[in-house]
Amino acid sequence: MGIDAALFSGPKCYFFKGARYVRVTRGETGPGTVDPGYPAPISNWGWPSGFGASGIDAALYSGSKAYFFKGNRYIRVTRGETGSGTVDPGYPAPISNWGWPSGFGVNGIDAALYSGSKTYFFKGDRYIRVSRGDTGPGTVDPGYPAPISNWGWPSGFGANGIDAALNSGSKTYFFKGDRYIRVTRGETGPGTVDPGYPAPISNWGWDREFIVVHFKSLLKVDSAVQDFIDDQFGAMRDLFTRSRVDVRRGSTEDLSGDSDLDSLLALDVGACLLGRPTEEHEELFAHRDGAADTDLVIYIVQTLVGGSGNLVGCATHPSGKPGAAVVVTSSRWLLAHEVGHVLSLRHVPRTPTTNSDFLMWPNTGWTNVPPDVSTAETTKMLDSALTRPDPF
Ligand SMILES: [Zn+2]
Repeated sequence: MGIDAALFSGPKCYFFKGARYVRVTRGETGPGTVDPGYPAPISNWGWPSGFGASGIDAALYSGSKAYFFKGNRYIRVTRGETGSGTVDPGYPAPISNWGWPSGFGVNGIDAALYSGSKTYFFKGDRYIRVSRGDTGPGTVDPGYPAPISNWGWPSGFGANGIDAALNSGSKTYFFKGDRYIRVTRGETGPGTVDPGYPAPISNWGWDREFIVVHFKSLLKVDSAVQDFIDDQFGAMRDLFTRSRVDVRRGSTEDLSGDSDLDSLLALDVGACLLGRPTEEHEELFAHRDGAADTDLVIYIVQTLVGGSGNLVGCATHPSGKPGAAVVVTSSRWLLAHEVGHVLSLRHVPRTPTTNSDFLMWPNTGWTNVPPDVSTAETTKMLDSALTRPDPF
């Protein structure tokens, strides 16, 4: 447990651990929501000559610049709130350029904290406070290095060193091992540790689970089918990320050239009962090229025929071949609904009628979109053997 570094960046925060990081959308307080597609490898940032690819020690927001520290070197990056930005010329450079007193941090630091006109750097059980602008080393304030114990954190938290620090409006967060504290403070001074801290780092919800979704189409994958796949996938990914399920894109296969499958274009799904696949289900869902056992395969067909009315999607699938069949529609959360079924969700009752706010409403007449997923439904999805843990 624990993280290596944290970076504030407006509505986004970044947390680094080993060779990976997560990007989180949040306000000044609270855990926010991990963005879809994370954790991702640090190498995505494209830093020069592999800098930091296996992990970094500290990150520092500093207005239009961000600084990243690893060992005895650092880089300065010009960037906005999102994206990797551009590494400034001349970096990586040695930390010794900062000119800190008596060799402080010259071989590496543990954490860095932007705090308006002051910047703090932490190493072992000591820290320094520096007066500076967005760029440049500035001037180390008199009396530093000083012991971290000066901050007066509860029950010795962080006294021997911290892992990461994060400024976030009127709040500052300090991380150590599997715990963190939230502090209310201004630009200088220790401020006040908020009640209830230290708290477990697991509160942030970075530990998520993931599914991989592949598409196989009996219709020719033209731009209309491709748009349908992209829209449905995006809507599902954005919805499920709030339930701590990261939806990852698998392969897309065009099966329209296989004339043996023409008879399945109008797929007989029977009564579309979970656990009761038809012969045509068995035949179609046998096509799982490129999909692992726990991956989901979504089959795009012309129509769904059977005994239970006008269907646009059916999540019935043979045992051990998770997936669903859908037709091309403009109902944006159809795929999310069917995948919800595959992850063992059932329909919400038709009464009260406000249940139409929920993803698992029995038809596609959702209200107050995007649709809701309840806490109990989230738990159920995370309990499914098809959602796989991805500890961070
Ligand atoms: Zn349904």
